[in-house]
Amino acid sequence: MANIGIVGGGFSALVASASTNFQAKIITPLISNHLNKIFAVDKILSKKSGSLASFKILNKNVRLHERLILGGNSKIWGGFVNMDGLDSRGIALLESMGVQFKPLSFDGTGSLSNKNIYQLQYNDLILDSSNIIRPNTNEMVKSIGWLGSKPYLVLYSGIVLYFDKLILCVGVVQLIQILIASNLIRKGDYISLNEYPCRFNLSFLRALPETNDCVIRYGFFRAINHFVGVQKKTTPEFLPLYLDQIFLSSKNHLAMQYNGAEEFSAHSLGFGGSIHYCNLKINSMPINDFISNLNPNISVLGMASVNQMIPGPISNDIINGALVYDS
Ligand SMILES: Cc1cc2nc3c(=O)[nH]c(=O)nc-3n(C[C@H](O)[C@H](O)[C@H](O)COP(=O)(O)OP(=O)(O)OC[C@H]3O[C@@H](n4cnc5c(N)ncnc54)[C@H](O)[C@@H]3O)c2cc1C
Repeated sequence: MANIGIVGGGFSALVASASTNFQAKIITPLISNHLNKIFAVDKILSKKSGSLASFKILNKNVRLHERLILGGNSKIWGGFVNMDGLDSRGIALLESMGVQFKPLSFDGTGSLSNKNIYQLQYNDLILDSSNIIRPNTNEMVKSIGWLGSKPYLVLYSGIVLYFDKLILCVGVVQLIQILIASNLIRKGDYISLNEYPCRFNLSFLRALPETNDCVIRYGFFRAINHFVGVQKKTTPEFLPLYLDQIFLSSKNHLAMQYNGAEEFSAHSLGFGGSIHYCNLKINSMPINDFISNLNPNISVLGMASVNQMIPGPISNDIINGALVYDS
């Protein structure tokens, strides 16, 4: 068996790890507490974790996020997954590790949708990857490189680890940070992302709106619990008041140019609000083409590596993306 390293501890690392039959080594911190809050994303009741990224985007309308903790965003997410287009091997992969696909209902999940959306659960709670995977090396990765075709990782402690194959599952912000630290993004380079923008509506009507957009409706109590960071359904939904999270069908595009000195300039009136931004390209090249041109033994899995085709959840794209590692 090849010596495979997975960097990251979130949902992407979980599915990458499962697709290597849990044989890969996981390199990620249990938690990284840091004063830099630029990209941090926390909820009132969730465990707080800062950001370690030091690059800046010189446009206040652009908001990217990271959560440097085992579990990553899966500690605070909705666990929603779109079953349309999800490969049956992906469903089998998750079910083989005890993950359940729960249909949405106000009684069961506190939510509904006008699309074929389910909730990923583990032991009857919203799936949190940290309940299944543990790090083999409890440290942050600073940069990557290779000797011949053999990839290596440089940890913040200075230790260097060699692997036959590397899968980077670190989230968009840290991926950009690692590329900068590895001197793989250079002054003048362009990077881009896209997203289906998201907005919220309050509704008193029980019937879901008729629209092509993707609507996830939260019952009043589930909405409050979701936004403060409670991961289980606790209160019966008896109030006729709903919060609709609406992912629009039109795409929003972000292009940024690297000015050097860890700064990007960007022309944007607003980007990042969906928190499902994806399809990272460097000089118009999808991230996995960019990386595999440099070294075919390094790949990326996560929102950066998938090009979401349907608005709404993105976990389904990540699951499909992991199937290439299936041995
Ligand atoms: C509040 C919220 C709700 C969401 N709800 C949904 C939803 O319901 N459905 C859906 O499909 N998507 C949802 N998302 C999007 C969600 O983030 C992705 O679907 C998915 O969780 C991404 O997982 P990931 O593992 O790629 O990244 P992350 O969750 O960001 O995990 C990255 C992991 O890598 C680790 N890491 C980062 N940098 C390094 C480094 N340098 N060295 C070592 N380790 C590192 C981090 O500590 C973390 O463990 C939501 C996002 C947020 C913020």
